[in-house]
Amino acid sequence: MAAILLDVDGVLHVSGDPIPGAADAVRRLRENGHRLRFVTNTTTRSRAQIVAELEGQGIEVDPEDVQTVAGAAVKALAGKRVLALTMHAIVGDLDGIELVGDGADAVLLGGADETPETNLVFSYMNLARAFAELELGADLYCFHRNRWWQTKHGPQFDAGAYVVGLEYAAGVEAVVLGKPSSSYFAAACEALDADPHMTWMVGDDLESDIIGAQGIGMKTVLVRTGKFRPDAVERARTQPDGIVSSIGHLPEWLEEHL
Ligand SMILES: [Mg+2]
Repeated sequence: MAAILLDVDGVLHVSGDPIPGAADAVRRLRENGHRLRFVTNTTTRSRAQIVAELEGQGIEVDPEDVQTVAGAAVKALAGKRVLALTMHAIVGDLDGIELVGDGADAVLLGGADETPETNLVFSYMNLARAFAELELGADLYCFHRNRWWQTKHGPQFDAGAYVVGLEYAAGVEAVVLGKPSSSYFAAACEALDADPHMTWMVGDDLESDIIGAQGIGMKTVLVRTGKFRPDAVERARTQPDGIVSSIGHLPEWLEEHL
């Protein structure tokens, strides 16, 4: 029996389109006695929306078992005054954080999506406001610094470039709250009461999922769906413990390799 962290986007579905066999694989992993936690860097959907989407594809999920970047932000920034440049969908999950327009203790950068909302959030005016707060001493936090993410229409420009832009302008370094930060993986292992060395991370993103989880000694499986790119694996200095064609093949792969 193992503790298993499952990434959501690219592993269970892509843009809401289920990966074939995903629901069945989750059911079989549970039947085999494994403890599961869903760990996502999603910045465009609330926890409730993530749960509803998974249930819509036949995957039963307790909301408590879904670890989100908004949850990580609440842990890190509760009680602080925060200028948040994030997608509207997750604002409701930032409970306990005081969202402000100025006089911030911290600037928090979320992700982007392909809708006009991204233009509004990352407008010159908002980025200049964030820069001003950093100049006044606010700390910079981000959900992740992803360069791009995978949609059913192909790769899309992500918010990492805005993070790097603000770091460059203000001469600061952002604290990453989501994957691949060690604190995010450690929190997930803790929630399952599991030793990282005995815990598996299953993801489609070599940088965020695999290398991040290996950083705290976890075992890793990369799936060939979602963001997976064979050339990235060939170039990488570290390799996952296993590569499976999709989540559908994970239960039998684990039975052979545990
Ligand atoms: Mg993913």
